[in-house]
Amino acid sequence: MLHPLQSKQKNGSAASTAEPVLPPKPSTTSEPASGITSNGASGNSTPSKRGHKSPFTVEDPIEALLARNQHWSSHISQKYPELFPSLASTQKPQILWFGCSDSRVPETTILNLLPGEVFVHRNIANCLPPNDLSSLSVLQYAVEVLQVKHIIVCGHYGCGGIAAACSQKRLGLIDVWLKNIRDVRARNIKELMAIDDEEARIRRLVELNTVAQVHSVLHNANVIDAMRDRGMKVHGFVYDVANGKIRRLEVPDDHATEIFDLHDC
Ligand SMILES: [Zn+2]
Repeated sequence: MLHPLQSKQKNGSAASTAEPVLPPKPSTTSEPASGITSNGASGNSTPSKRGHKSPFTVEDPIEALLARNQHWSSHISQKYPELFPSLASTQKPQILWFGCSDSRVPETTILNLLPGEVFVHRNIANCLPPNDLSSLSVLQYAVEVLQVKHIIVCGHYGCGGIAAACSQKRLGLIDVWLKNIRDVRARNIKELMAIDDEEARIRRLVELNTVAQVHSVLHNANVIDAMRDRGMKVHGFVYDVANGKIRRLEVPDDHATEIFDLHDC
């Protein structure tokens, strides 16, 4: 039986097509996925379901990971000789990404970006509660210091956190965190209960939760200032782990900006 935090993935979405935030970059992952698979340890490696040999099927997976890193850094250095020297002194990412901790949603990979291009905060089900010092600190630094041009909140179908928040099972400490999602569920209970299919209902909550977290970002006074003063933009995305595609979500105006638009006295 699946743990409540491990959900299944189905099709179907109410989201619209996403537009790229940045121009596409050259692929940076052509070799690592099928390249280094062992550190020379005798081969008990086997192809995984992903179609390549996982480092975790070799005798010493940590050595295999380090070897993969050596290979990757050499490959990137050859392809982009100026990249690492430039990153040694500073970072100038244009994007702040709020995403889920899920291993299937690695932002730099799915956006086909390089190191230095996206500033990141990830947690279970990409929640941005107003009292979470970690995400708030990331938000402040990204907006005030890094001066990012875009903030993206990205939910994903198949999210275990969302599925868990749809159940009535008591899970312990994590229920404190999942309350963020259950609050969204409660606020949208009529719409959700009108969806007969359970998987479709969970997928809709993925979207509603993402929109709610976008609104949470939009209720930050620093964000409001940056949008007004320098045209920063905030986006809601949803990612489908079943096909690797991102879609842009429609984020309705909640007409609350005025309430959160704070000024010095
Ligand atoms: Zn998730």
